[in-house]
Amino acid sequence: MQRGPFNRRRILAASGAMAGALALPGGVRTDSQRESIRDAHARPILFQGGIVVTGEERTGVVPRRQDVLVRGDRIEAIGTGLSTRDAHVFNCRDKIVTVPWIDTHVHGWERLLRYRADALGFLDYLGTITGEDLSRMTAQDLALGEYAEAVSALDAGVGTMVSWCHAIRTRDDALTVLRRLYQAGGWTVFMHGYNSLAFATANPGPDLSDVLTTFREAQRLRYNPGGGGILKAGMAVVGPEFTPDLGQITSQVKWLDDTNKKLGTDNLLSLHDGIPGRHDARPGVKLMADAGLLRRNQLHVHGVVLSDEELSALARTGSGLSLSPAIDARVFGGVLAHDRAARAGVPPAVSSDDAAIGGFTLRDHVRALMTAQHQSATAAQQPLMTDADALATVTRNAAAALGLERMGVLLKGYQADVMLIDARRLDVGPVMAPTAVGAVLAAPPAAISHLMLGGRWRKYDGRLLGVDVDRLLDDVTAAIQRITAR
Ligand SMILES: [Zn+2]
Repeated sequence: MQRGPFNRRRILAASGAMAGALALPGGVRTDSQRESIRDAHARPILFQGGIVVTGEERTGVVPRRQDVLVRGDRIEAIGTGLSTRDAHVFNCRDKIVTVPWIDTHVHGWERLLRYRADALGFLDYLGTITGEDLSRMTAQDLALGEYAEAVSALDAGVGTMVSWCHAIRTRDDALTVLRRLYQAGGWTVFMHGYNSLAFATANPGPDLSDVLTTFREAQRLRYNPGGGGILKAGMAVVGPEFTPDLGQITSQVKWLDDTNKKLGTDNLLSLHDGIPGRHDARPGVKLMADAGLLRRNQLHVHGVVLSDEELSALARTGSGLSLSPAIDARVFGGVLAHDRAARAGVPPAVSSDDAAIGGFTLRDHVRALMTAQHQSATAAQQPLMTDADALATVTRNAAAALGLERMGVLLKGYQADVMLIDARRLDVGPVMAPTAVGAVLAAPPAAISHLMLGGRWRKYDGRLLGVDVDRLLDDVTAAIQRITAR
């Protein structure tokens, strides 16, 4: 390794071209440190004395001060007074130690068009964002938007993002986006989708031979030595509420069954259903259940008006459910009640959906779900949704919905994904152990001081590692100006 003065900009540029992440063996360097920040692969790290929010609070676990020992890419132990042994001690007295969040459905390419559809109805959104704007976007533009979304998510403590890419027109679009997401340094589940504008046509796609190419590339890429990587892939499809018959969904489900078997993968199929209006005539989940097309490796999104019978059908097959409450309320006029889904045995995940519509963050959606649930529960004199219920929607429920093993909670033997929240801030505090779940929900991105994924630092002392933020903002601004110039 080169010694002497450290040129951050040059290394960032070089690593940006290579992997996008500032990866050095066993650690990373930053300008401010002037010394190596060693990760848990170089030497075990003992997060000592922080308030630990495991993500298991819904099952009755109460946050308390304890230690978390991380070695390599695993959580080796959690408990009080853990021996330091060979570990580097990281003092967490003023921190909450918790698990990063998982965003189960985001159209990341829209980051370039953020806020642009703030007051557009659904059809105008389709025409403007997925129509006219998308037609002016190159594969590189899509990839830039997805990359910007992914690193913004990391900054906010979202370690895993499901890129539900409903802008794919060609094989090259998909591969360009996938490779750029790999460079972002977070965990990605990449859903190869279709051009949304085609959703009402006879064959909206995606092209299955292109999807196969994407699946193979996702398998090849896997882990990024600099941090994060591609966890799995999938295909995003229109779903039977928007098609005249079950022909398409039948062949897509069967194709995915065969392909997963052939590749040895557990790739997903995702679709939007439970959509008011569409669901009346063609209830998607019911139609799929009756035809034997529900699977465990499916992610059903929105689900606004799913019936109890449909929720039970999802529970029986173990299919995932993801709600986007702020957008569900705005675009579809309602939000599926959290307690109905939970009672039926489908603990729902929450996702952020379209950046172009209002620019909601994942936190905003969790808040929106709570507000909707509190409103209906209070009116019906039912028990209120708790902070622990809310946290589960972006941690353990989300990992379960995606079939991600050893993720979504802080537990011995689980993947070393750790987020530290600065507890000594006016916008977070006062932080007391028994009520710390509420503080996790309230913490803004600026309060996320550190983020570790798979034992590797991705954010340290408030700074994203391996991301040249100034350059990214310049690139994004230039792209937006070109795309939206009329
Ligand atoms: Zn969506």
